[in-house]
Amino acid sequence: MITPVLPSYKRAPLAFDDGKGMRLYTGDGTEYLDFGAGVAVSSLGHAHPHLVKALTEQAQKVWHTANLYVIPGQERLARRLTEATFADTVFFTNSGAEALECSIKMARKYHAAKGHPERYRIITFEGAFHGRTLATIAAGGQAKYLEGFGPKVDGFDQVPFGDEKALLGAITEATAGILIEPIQGEGGVRPVPPRMLKRLRQICDEHGLLLILDEVQTGVGRTGKLFAHEWADIRPDIMAIAKGIGGGFPVGACLATADAAQGMTAGTHGSTFGGNPLAMAVANAVLDIVLADGFLDRVRRLALNFKQKLAGLKDSHPDIIEDVRGDGLLIGIKTKVPNTDFVAAAIEQRLLSVAAGDNVVRLMPPLIVCEDDLADALARLDRACQSFKSKRA
Ligand SMILES: *Cc1c(COP(=O)(O)O)cnc(C)c1O
Repeated sequence: MITPVLPSYKRAPLAFDDGKGMRLYTGDGTEYLDFGAGVAVSSLGHAHPHLVKALTEQAQKVWHTANLYVIPGQERLARRLTEATFADTVFFTNSGAEALECSIKMARKYHAAKGHPERYRIITFEGAFHGRTLATIAAGGQAKYLEGFGPKVDGFDQVPFGDEKALLGAITEATAGILIEPIQGEGGVRPVPPRMLKRLRQICDEHGLLLILDEVQTGVGRTGKLFAHEWADIRPDIMAIAKGIGGGFPVGACLATADAAQGMTAGTHGSTFGGNPLAMAVANAVLDIVLADGFLDRVRRLALNFKQKLAGLKDSHPDIIEDVRGDGLLIGIKTKVPNTDFVAAAIEQRLLSVAAGDNVVRLMPPLIVCEDDLADALARLDRACQSFKSKRA
């Protein structure tokens, strides 16, 4: 017998009724410290007053008109995103995968518009994750997500992570662009070194390819910069974002330069819900806070401090923790015990984290985290580590 909710997720047996700031509460009032942020989505924590106000005010006005008409919230958000980034134009979606779909279509259309429809292939990297639609599972290239879902969507060539020679070998007359996450999130918090991102930019320029960044997880302040690629001081041609920009409301976007977007004329792409007034109200409110003076400085300062303390935790528990990596508040702890056991042990300590590939446990607290929360999380992580030793003893 099947459950009414399709059993496609392995869920922890926890249900949250309420949330406030860094904390979530189950029905019986048990408090959890949220260092998962619903996979880097609740960027400003739970029930942030500024976001609640923006959403409820918009809810009193108009919820939906579809993209048949001008949506003022889109105009404002697009203007702010283009002012704050490399981009000249923005397409709004409801999710990360849709932002990637738009990015992929745009890259193909760019070459088609320039008279080269044969240039449609995109190079991606092993360990990548770009979503769960048919095209994005092909882009991610992971067998476990592709298996049983029919022929893999054509047009993606995958090379090993960090292998420049293989990358150069994969470029052909049919290549349209290179798609990469500045830090592989689901793949296990594997950062791409800034010099390699710089090199990718150079390779794209040399071969007339578009550099497409997937900043769905790394974007909107997660690494202490508005976008992670800013650390490498490069400019992509196209960028997919989602997760943090909505602060928990489903919002995604595809950002692009005018050049890269040249093929996307009226009628070429669309979405019924994308850029919905409610979504735009919340995303604009998220930007009010993330773009405020000093906000990202604070994230960087706290993150650095936390990473140093986590290095100390690793030294205290060398038999449990193998490595601590990541940038800003996208942190991966590679564990020597199964990562899912560690996530469960953290839940025992009322701390929420998220498992990733390569046996990594991800810590990605809301960006509003404070020193006390970090110290609290550290104490809980320490107890989680100890719990393995007492089990062994
Ligand atoms: C989460 C994620 C996606 C997919 O986003 P959805 O909103 O689940 O479709 C794509 N790329 C990266 C890097 C992600 O972390």
